[in-house]
Amino acid sequence: MRFYVLTLFPDMIRDGFQTSITGRAVEKGILSLETVNIRDFSVNKHQRVDDYPYGGGAGMVMQAEPVYLAYESVAKRLTKKPRVLYMSPQGKVFHQRMAEELAREEELVFLCGHYEGIDERVLEEIVTDEVSIGDYVLTGGELPALVMMDAISRLLEGVLHNEESAEFDSFSDNLLEYPQYSRPQNWRGKEVPEILLSGHHLNVEKWRREQSLLRTRKRRPDLLETANLTKEDKKFLAKLTEL
Ligand code: SAM
Repeated sequence: MRFYVLTLFPDMIRDGFQTSITGRAVEKGILSLETVNIRDFSVNKHQRVDDYPYGGGAGMVMQAEPVYLAYESVAKRLTKKPRVLYMSPQGKVFHQRMAEELAREEELVFLCGHYEGIDERVLEEIVTDEVSIGDYVLTGGELPALVMMDAISRLLEGVLHNEESAEFDSFSDNLLEYPQYSRPQNWRGKEVPEILLSGHHLNVEKWRREQSLLRTRKRRPDLLETANLTKEDKKFLAKLTEL
């Protein structure tokens, strides 16, 4: 997977991405990251890339041409027109299924806005997907791009050490994950649930599945409507409703 990020703050992207698990994946060659500084494509002698909005109003708007030239500097090296994801509070809200779908692409271009956003005309020209990371407004698209790249990366083969860890994560079945415990067995008087010490693999799995269902029912009941539920899961949930 190759990530290209068009941004005014390339250091923020590089610093955020090239640490920990994603950084290790870059070193292993599973992922590559290229940042493109939109300011390098300024058409202004003072290297400005923003201007006042037509029609008046507060704030500044990123101009179309530098964004277009930054995009073109990437697109001309690719064999097909890439998916260009514009980070925007007005976009479709990002979720795990979207991460899974995007993880199947070979390359993705992220476009990060700033100020009041980007001139609509260049968005119409180059953007294939407008994506939001939630219903709140941030100062720029860099954190959303990092959030998305992180979620996509961990789904790629070889990025996580233990292949199973993504399989049972929250949302993988549209259910939240069961609670996790580690050593010590007794922490400040609180014991690890006994079943996890039993060594009985099937019972542990059953308990975890039930915990998953209980959590989802309590915290995110909306997810149950589209969750992948087995007959046993449905029976378990039905019993809870009877109580
Ligand atoms: N004036 C814009 C509006 O009301 O829709 C908001 C612009 S915001 C201050 C600046 C940039 O931050 C946006 O162009 C976008 O790239 C990014 N951004 C802000 N909030 C975001 C969110 N929730 N998801 C994705 N990107 C976001």
